[in-house]
Amino acid sequence: MDSWSFGRVALVGDAAWCASPASGAGAELALVGAYRLAGELATVGGDHRLAFPRFHDSHRAPVRPKQQIGPNVRLMVPKTAGGKRVRDAFARLPLMRTLGALERLTQAKNPRPLPKYIPAP
Ligand SMILES: Cc1cc2nc3c(=O)[nH]c(=O)nc-3n(C[C@H](O)[C@H](O)[C@H](O)COP(=O)(O)OP(=O)(O)OC[C@H]3O[C@@H](n4cnc5c(N)ncnc54)[C@H](O)[C@@H]3O)c2cc1C
Repeated sequence: MDSWSFGRVALVGDAAWCASPASGAGAELALVGAYRLAGELATVGGDHRLAFPRFHDSHRAPVRPKQQIGPNVRLMVPKTAGGKRVRDAFARLPLMRTLGALERLTQAKNPRPLPKYIPAP
């Protein structure tokens, strides 16, 4: 959605931004988005007119790259017969364990710290 809020109503998760099916990030973004929305509301004492734009601004940056379709989907759903042959050959290679280990290594090195919110008195 272009905007994640209207009046006093705000959306989070797939209803608001829906990540690419290849991102593997839909659940994380939904949970972190809900945390950010609650945090922004708490920081300004529940004033949605202040909190919603701040929620929007802070969460757009992590969402945007996860909405890109990604080369892995293009490889899984090729448009040409040649592309299908490449996909099928790739799928037969015993690479899944190695790719999984590589992904875990990358994720461990790039943790994204969550912002800390201090509720308004
Ligand atoms: C096949 C598949 C595989 C996926 N794999 C991954 C993965 O590996 N990793 C990952 O991070 N994400 C994955 N996702 C994405 C992830 O599941 C979603 O991004 C995430 O669940 C979004 O959470 P949400 O709370 O926004 O929506 P949802 O989890 O869809 O929750 C919405 C809820 O609202 C309910 N609802 C709908 N209409 C109404 C109504 N009118 N009244 C009351 N309740 C209603 C629904 O029943 C549902 O329980 C996958 C999704 C699919 C479909």
